[in-house]
Amino acid sequence: MTSAAKFQFGVAGMGVMGASLALNIADRGFKVAAWDRHPEKIDEIHAKHGHPEMKGTGSLEEFVGMLERPRRILLMVTAGAAVDQMMDRLTPLLSPGDVVIDGGNSWFQDTQRREKAYREKGLHFIGMGVSGGEEGARHGPSLMPGGPAEAYALLRPVLEAIAARAESGLCVTHVGPDGAGHFVKMVHNGIEYADMQLLAETYDVLRRGLGLSADALADTFTKWNEGIAESFLLETTLKVLRKKDAETGKPLVDLVLDKAGQKGTGKWTVQVSLDLGIPVPSIASALDARNLSAMKDERVAASAKLPAPPLTLTAEEKANLISWAHDALYAARVVTYAQGMRLIQAASKEYHWNVSLAEMARIWRGGCIIRAKLLTPLREAFTQQPDLPNLIVSEAFAPVLTKMAPAWRQLVGTATRLGIPVPVFSSSLAYFDSYRSAELPQNLTQAQRDAFGAHTYQRRDKPEAGFVHSDWS
Ligand code: NAP
Repeated sequence: MTSAAKFQFGVAGMGVMGASLALNIADRGFKVAAWDRHPEKIDEIHAKHGHPEMKGTGSLEEFVGMLERPRRILLMVTAGAAVDQMMDRLTPLLSPGDVVIDGGNSWFQDTQRREKAYREKGLHFIGMGVSGGEEGARHGPSLMPGGPAEAYALLRPVLEAIAARAESGLCVTHVGPDGAGHFVKMVHNGIEYADMQLLAETYDVLRRGLGLSADALADTFTKWNEGIAESFLLETTLKVLRKKDAETGKPLVDLVLDKAGQKGTGKWTVQVSLDLGIPVPSIASALDARNLSAMKDERVAASAKLPAPPLTLTAEEKANLISWAHDALYAARVVTYAQGMRLIQAASKEYHWNVSLAEMARIWRGGCIIRAKLLTPLREAFTQQPDLPNLIVSEAFAPVLTKMAPAWRQLVGTATRLGIPVPVFSSSLAYFDSYRSAELPQNLTQAQRDAFGAHTYQRRDKPEAGFVHSDWS
């Protein structure tokens, strides 16, 4: 350990992500100072990976002293109170113009508060979404930094060096001010929830409906992954399906308990969508699906009382279910991304972030968990029309969705008839049908509201009359 040499970048928190990012930065030739409250973790990292460009310490004072100025410090600690604690501990050690980055999955309003507090002290704070898991962090993540532009300029050479490289370029950009980066990362995770649930529903319909084995499903998904449905999550799914349990020889996935966990970013996405009045039913249904899955004991008890319909497919269903599922997966996925982009657009307007949706699609093209082939036309759509109100009406997607909708309806219809739950396929379809309907039954809703609560309504035939009330008795 030394404090004499000046290090170019500091990483505090040597957990899964912190250690991987520190090694990635050191790989790119930057001298990295590492800190952890348990310095033996740094020794372990050295023993395992031994990196000459990286030195560690358990003393925060020494860590800060090792860094060249303006200092660049990445916090990779558990989101929440730990970030505030670390910021408080660092504040007296820092100098004006130093930059602290929070790379965890923080709530964007906490990031707004933290950025303001540091700004008032003459310090810079960047809230940065990091996607790609441990592997991405180690070899090339997608990075979503938000905060002051001048602080981003100081970080840029390092972030560009470590980010994933895709055909669309380096997977990092300045997302916008204060909480913009963490907001975009949160929505990214919301989309991830929905996409994972779509894959789970596809697996379920084909497994239960057609009786396909894990290997047969992996074969099907391998073919799909060579076409327009290609995505990192599809690739992950087929790898999962191929894995055999060493002990029993069975597909390992069959031995995994069907109770999904979550860490909160999906819930935040839905909560903020309600606050902003932007529907994201695909993401909300995916969240509900995880919550319902957690009620395992109740489900087991209910399954004895509420019998399922017989699992008998018609010849047409047997012949077409796989191709219906392919088209439904693609179409519902487009609708999911459309909802997420719309939510970012609304927040960008609300908080004056000026987020470029085309840029988000570009930096999600590599490194991140939701990277997918469809991001290429999605980026094109937002490049042509940056204020596109909804992706589903874009020239890139409207004809594809129209073509795929019949298969999507068949998939949802068949699953529903068989009693196989497809919450994200069906809620995405309902969103699609609602959005493309010139007429919705909310005339009745408004009449009901006026009938019981005198909430007033507008007449189609007399718009100039404004809001009126009727006696409905
Ligand atoms: P992790 O392995 O649990 O590491 C968290 C680190 O924070 C540990 O080193 C922990 O130290 C430290 N820490 C916790 N409380 C602290 C405190 N009060 N003061 C100082 N250090 C503290 O978690 P991770 O997976 O690296 O995730 C870090 C952040 O990145 C989280 O916000 C997470 O949501 C986000 N993230 C994770 C992933 C992923 O795939 N894992 C992907 C993107 C973003 P101890 O070991 O001593 O408790």
